[in-house]
Amino acid sequence: MLEPEVESRPWDEQVELDAASYRAQVAWVLERSEFYREKLSAAGISSPEDAGGLEDISRLPLTEKSEVKATATPEKPIGAHLCVGREDIARIYSTSGTTGTPSYIPLTKGDLDNWVTGSARSYAASGVQAGERIVSTYNAGPFVAGAVLDAFERIGLSHIPVGTGSTERLMLAVELLDPETVVLTPSYAAYLLEWAADRGKDLRGASVRRVLVAGEPGGGEPAFRAKLEEGWGAKVTEAMGIGDIGASLWGECEEQDGMHLGARGFVHAELIDPESGEAREISDGASGELVLSHLQHRAAPLLRFRTRDHVELWTSKCPCGRTSPRVRCVGRTDDMLIVRGVNVFPSAVREVVNAFAPKVSGHILVRPGAPGVKQEPPLPVAVELAQDVAAEVELAEAIAERLRSALVVQARVELVPWGTLQRSEYKSKLVERARL
Ligand SMILES: [Zn+2]
Repeated sequence: MLEPEVESRPWDEQVELDAASYRAQVAWVLERSEFYREKLSAAGISSPEDAGGLEDISRLPLTEKSEVKATATPEKPIGAHLCVGREDIARIYSTSGTTGTPSYIPLTKGDLDNWVTGSARSYAASGVQAGERIVSTYNAGPFVAGAVLDAFERIGLSHIPVGTGSTERLMLAVELLDPETVVLTPSYAAYLLEWAADRGKDLRGASVRRVLVAGEPGGGEPAFRAKLEEGWGAKVTEAMGIGDIGASLWGECEEQDGMHLGARGFVHAELIDPESGEAREISDGASGELVLSHLQHRAAPLLRFRTRDHVELWTSKCPCGRTSPRVRCVGRTDDMLIVRGVNVFPSAVREVVNAFAPKVSGHILVRPGAPGVKQEPPLPVAVELAQDVAAEVELAEAIAERLRSALVVQARVELVPWGTLQRSEYKSKLVERARL
């Protein structure tokens, strides 16, 4: 553990500390954030007393990313939630949005330090040790993931940044520099297995003992993870953050049973019903959309921010000694489809299909027939076959049957030959909409 006195602190003591931080955070935004002054007063909260304590947090309205972004103007490009003056901002990140103007994420020196501390705890949970070598593949410079690179330094790792876009260069670094760890998206980790197999290389012979995955859901799905672990001959653990709140807030330990909240003390986590927005109790085995609040943020704090990440959560004791709850992301609202009232995440479809290895390659593409979230069955799913496997009606039927029993979704499975679906060196595209 990077900070045993913090990470193994009894959770009820953490909640007490967080309660004090929360009151101070609410007072801070009421005093300085034009955005929250307006938003909270519309909800009948004009003073810290109105807001109450951490146990009353659901009195506060939820915050959507779009409403924060809507307050950005050419005069105030960061947005009306900015709480500090120009001279107090130490860094401004941009979100990597592909359309329109990016969101700007300002941090004070203290905010940045908290980000790095939380990230360092999250990544250290994987078991990486000071003095070990880590190859990173994030093209993170301008983006929030850049703070993660500082976390590697904080842990004391010997960091070898390679970036994406040059698999040759990455694999050469792995071969020649003998890193113990690589950090990448789960899609890229899977892509590299195919890349190596095409060249007759066996990654199990390489020095890599840990594969740290982040950036998209999937690294925690059992069949997908087993495939990565088998191919790399290494342990796979995941990490997760969200740009607006913090980089790598969560990190999985060597028990591989969900990601601990590395950013404990800096961030408060809640679960809500994604449809109604109602708060759900945090208890072992709970699930819902993750909602996060800053506790000690200065530059542009967010309260009850909807992450759009759907998670499962556990509070049971973890043998590693870390006392924070653990989560596993099952998918993002942005990817979710609703088929006859049933929520379907493409990554869950992939996980079901993966159980048919070695007959399938593990690549899938969901092709919704209608625009929007709601779909009529059957849901078209392209499933790519493994190399030298012929398409058989029985296989397609068996996959459709498993999807029906596991996810309660009626699917039309189309088997496509090996190499048909696009590979990604970054994040996989699991849904393709027809051009209408
Ligand atoms: Zn643990």
